[in-house]
Amino acid sequence: MSEWLSANLKQLLREEEAQMIAWRRHLHQYPELSFREEKTPAMIADILRSCELDEVRTQVGGRGVRGLLRGAAPGPTVALRADFDALPIQDQKEVPYKSRIPGVMHACGHDGHTATLLGLARVLARHRQHLKGNVVFIFQHAEEENPGGAQQMVADGVLEGVDAIFGAHLWASEPVGKVLTAPGPLMANVDDFLLEIKGKGGHAAMPEQTVDAIVVGSHIVTALQTIASRNVSPLEHVVVTVGTFQAGDNANVIADTCTMSGTVRTFLPQLRELAERRLKEIVNGTAAMLGATVSIRYDRGYPAVINSEREAAIAWEAAVAAVGAEQVERMKPTMGGEDFSYYLQQVPGAFIFVGAGNPEKGAAYPHHHPRFDIDEQAMLISAEVLGRTALRYMQVTGGDGA
Ligand code: MN
Repeated sequence: MSEWLSANLKQLLREEEAQMIAWRRHLHQYPELSFREEKTPAMIADILRSCELDEVRTQVGGRGVRGLLRGAAPGPTVALRADFDALPIQDQKEVPYKSRIPGVMHACGHDGHTATLLGLARVLARHRQHLKGNVVFIFQHAEEENPGGAQQMVADGVLEGVDAIFGAHLWASEPVGKVLTAPGPLMANVDDFLLEIKGKGGHAAMPEQTVDAIVVGSHIVTALQTIASRNVSPLEHVVVTVGTFQAGDNANVIADTCTMSGTVRTFLPQLRELAERRLKEIVNGTAAMLGATVSIRYDRGYPAVINSEREAAIAWEAAVAAVGAEQVERMKPTMGGEDFSYYLQQVPGAFIFVGAGNPEKGAAYPHHHPRFDIDEQAMLISAEVLGRTALRYMQVTGGDGA
């Protein structure tokens, strides 16, 4: 019964394309920061209600929205997720739909994710008589900021009854038309640290009376490089970056404190453990060796996004059906983070990257850049890939009672 829908999905979505673009441009003009979204979830809930979903729940885990669509025939429940928060960036594009909110911008494509999933919800709801299973539409707040909306939505039961989850990210560093995914780790564990080194200040010409916090800090920065170069196999992946280093305010004074912050990125849980342990050993050991004391704050952020085998294969086949085999590629893991991982810790699923770059349409800047934009054509592709993925999941797993 879902064959009819699969065969007609591209055309049905095409009929929604103008609406999806209009929604996206509206969201783009009125972006809202993580944990401060109000109008966006309200607009999403209104649209979902107008689709006559079986349930629409708002304020899920704070500001999220959950829509449930029951198919005509019983079957598995597939969740599809879009995030809807923006970033504290001033929009510097010159387009009619540029942000009207000073200092806030959809610079990661989440406006497109939301509009895409709304368009797909409308099509699937209208044709629910062809669905052999249910679809849960997850609209998530606060992807960009720790602790993230996903964790809160999961705690609030957003995955209740869900058998598998899929999500797509519009990806401007790949050309529009391409779709990428892979089984296994795709995005990194994101952990942050803050170090406060306490030495002993004094006259720049009398170092023997001091403990120079800048020298201690410098040794620590250098020694931390050995985590990647000496503690981890060259065939594995780890990044340790010191992003800030603050100390001293006078050329003839030895600094008594030095503050550093940074981030640690890994894929494997055992490397996450190792990197944290080695960082603490190196920092404490180096400070002690040089006579300083140090306090370490180490915060574990989003866990790694790890696609499950079967679901990644289903998404791959759906992508092939949507854009053709030559346009589907194996995604190379990125050390960026995504809180989609919290859903994947609960249920199997896959995260998919949909190319959205197109220099001819101004979509030539990296994510989080003040001129970031997408080729809106990617939304139609993303909707089709997600829709086909859900239908295929129902087809493949419907028989085994999954
Ligand atoms: Mn994003």
